[in-house]
Amino acid sequence: MAGLLSTIGKHTASEDSAFEYLVEQGLLAKERRCSKCYPAPNLSLIRRSDIADGWTWRCSLRGCRTKVSIRKDSFFSQSKLRLTTWIKLMYLWASDIPVTKVRCHLDDGECSTTTAVDAYYLIRDIYTGKLLASPVLLGGPGIVVQIDESLMRHNHKYNRGRGPLDHIWVFGMLDTSLSPGVGYMEVVDKRDAAMLLPIIQQHTRPGTIIHSDQWAAYRDPAARLPTVACHRTVNHSRHFVDPQTGAHTQAVESYWNSVKSKLKSMRGTTDGMLPGHLDEYMWRERWGSGANGWMNAQTAYNSLVRHICTMRMRRKIFYVAVYV
Ligand SMILES: [Zn+2]
Repeated sequence: MAGLLSTIGKHTASEDSAFEYLVEQGLLAKERRCSKCYPAPNLSLIRRSDIADGWTWRCSLRGCRTKVSIRKDSFFSQSKLRLTTWIKLMYLWASDIPVTKVRCHLDDGECSTTTAVDAYYLIRDIYTGKLLASPVLLGGPGIVVQIDESLMRHNHKYNRGRGPLDHIWVFGMLDTSLSPGVGYMEVVDKRDAAMLLPIIQQHTRPGTIIHSDQWAAYRDPAARLPTVACHRTVNHSRHFVDPQTGAHTQAVESYWNSVKSKLKSMRGTTDGMLPGHLDEYMWRERWGSGANGWMNAQTAYNSLVRHICTMRMRRKIFYVAVYV
């Protein structure tokens, strides 16, 4: 089991090496100034044997001596988990290890499953935030984007005897110019034009060609959406591929299959978490895949570290804008 985490072993050897590494990666502050003194002197790092991090920032001015945690304003500020454990959890998440399995990769007593769930939630804030900050755009001039809706039945394993609430519609779009295809998915309350057309508009580049079945909501998006150049449909009651135009939705259908098999492997999933899982899937597609297009732990880890950095900075800028 140690094998998986050996890549980051150098950084998790001690709390000191974890601290040094996280500063180097920009996830913890390299220097700080005292917020109580003016002109604000730099704080100094002092050794603390009484706290797990081992270090704290302290103002060197006599009469002030304000202490500040090395985690202040960082991704880790709300957490009591050791920094070494955090690095491991980030790597396990990047390696697509389900939260219920992380304990198998950690030392005894290092982290409970409940605590790991909280940590994975914090990571979720990062990837959902990243997807909001960099919205998915598909298609472009002459590029076919296939669209389709899929009924997702969720939590079959733990949710015996539930009625139609088990069924959630997800709207999906797949860019067919890329291999493996890259998509966009969103949980929808309704499958009417008012719900679906704005999603198509928001996530396609101008000039996109749409292929779909003959579901009424899609009737003529080319006439209504500025980004859609052309819309072709296939009548599924008669053909898989339209004999005249060649239009089909087979790529988006096989995309649904991979998404669904991935969701099945995420045990303990509940309905409310489905949007988060779809975001995770989309994030891994974009930022967690190697050059060959397949998901790759090291790429996902590097992206996660980078996104934690930028998301934290974004938040800081936001605070400044609000309070100054
Ligand atoms: Zn001070």
